[in-house]
Amino acid sequence: MLNQKGGFMFFSNQNIFNILFEAIPEGVIIANENQNIIATNLASEQMFGYKKDELINQNLHVIIPKKHQTNHKTHFQNFLKSNTIRKINHNLNLFGIKKNKNEFPVEIGLNPFKIDNKSYIIALIIDITNRKKTAKKIENLNFKLEKIIKEKTAELKNTIKQLKNVNFDLKNQIKKRAEAEIQIKDALKNEQELNELKTKFLSLVSHEFKTPLSGILTSTILLKKYHLSEQQDKRDKHIETITKKVHYLNNILNDFLSIERIESSNVIYKYTTFNLSKAINEVVYNANMLLKSGQKINISSNIDNYVLYQDEKILELILSNLLYNAIKYSLENTTIDLIAHQTSKNTIFKLIDRGIGIPEKDQKFIFNRYFRAENVLNIQGTGIGLNIVKSHLENLGGTISFTSKEHKGSTFIIKLPLIKPL
Ligand code: ADP
Repeated sequence: MLNQKGGFMFFSNQNIFNILFEAIPEGVIIANENQNIIATNLASEQMFGYKKDELINQNLHVIIPKKHQTNHKTHFQNFLKSNTIRKINHNLNLFGIKKNKNEFPVEIGLNPFKIDNKSYIIALIIDITNRKKTAKKIENLNFKLEKIIKEKTAELKNTIKQLKNVNFDLKNQIKKRAEAEIQIKDALKNEQELNELKTKFLSLVSHEFKTPLSGILTSTILLKKYHLSEQQDKRDKHIETITKKVHYLNNILNDFLSIERIESSNVIYKYTTFNLSKAINEVVYNANMLLKSGQKINISSNIDNYVLYQDEKILELILSNLLYNAIKYSLENTTIDLIAHQTSKNTIFKLIDRGIGIPEKDQKFIFNRYFRAENVLNIQGTGIGLNIVKSHLENLGGTISFTSKEHKGSTFIIKLPLIKPL
């Protein structure tokens, strides 16, 4: 109901309405279809900085910022026509203007109604300055927070990266340390093995030298006793013993010296071209001195045909070693065959004896330095020869293999390439 001034006329229980109207904490403004304000409550007057009823009859433009005024009129008319309620919308970004011309953010809910066929709009206005400020503060705080989070994340990433690096370094160090430990352990093991070998070597030297030396001594003492001319055969026997033992000592010495040279990679092989028969005759000539009674060496008849390009002395050493073993590990009255032939790539030697053979369980060890099979422990030897032979053959690009049967004999096979290895 409107009063005569065009203002709002209250219902019969005007006081109650007044109290309620004034008590609403939100601003309430009622405007007619001409956009004239016809009623305001205390909250709206305070919000816009006006005294009581000062806004009455003023155009709504007084509380709308200039930049929004042009559109406002059409909006207003349309809104009246549509006759729908517009609820408060938080996203509209609306502004009011105070009497002192200060702009401030508001939220507005609109409600059109009709009385006596005239249209009105009741506007519920909320000053959201504080809310906006708080929102701004929150936004700022969020911004700062995001910045801090970003910084901290970056720091964290950096720390993780550093940790990863540290971890990597640590792993590397651990790996290196483990490798170093293995190296040290290996070195220690080698040192221990070397010490064991040295001890073995020393005991071997003393044993292997003592026996033939005392044999030589005995023979020389006995030689002195045989001064009659008819005792010549006895003298010859002792001279032969001495020769054999000196020869044996010479061989052992050569073996020991070879070890030393092979070990320090000091062997320089001297390749020359020579006839195979020359080398074999030399080897067999020396071996003949060691033959036991009734022992015989058969040489294959074709050796005159073969020419070799090799280190002659080393070949002789290899063949001598094998031949002496064949003699040593065979009984009297046995034959030893030395066979040689050439293929397009290799010279192949076979040394066949009918001796004591090598026990099967020992066969895989016989190229190990100082190894001696259990069936030869009462026969003199050092366990060095085959090891040296194998090392030389490897250096010369050759191979050695064997077959053996106890009490039947052994066959050693050597292959040497016709050309010098690269
Ligand atoms: P050594 O003969 O001084 O003991 P080698 O290195 O020449 O050392 O030989 C190693 C071992 O191989 C010998 O102790 C022996 O047990 C075995 N062996 C080598 N050649 C023969 C062979 N022809 N017949 C039987 N056993 C052999």
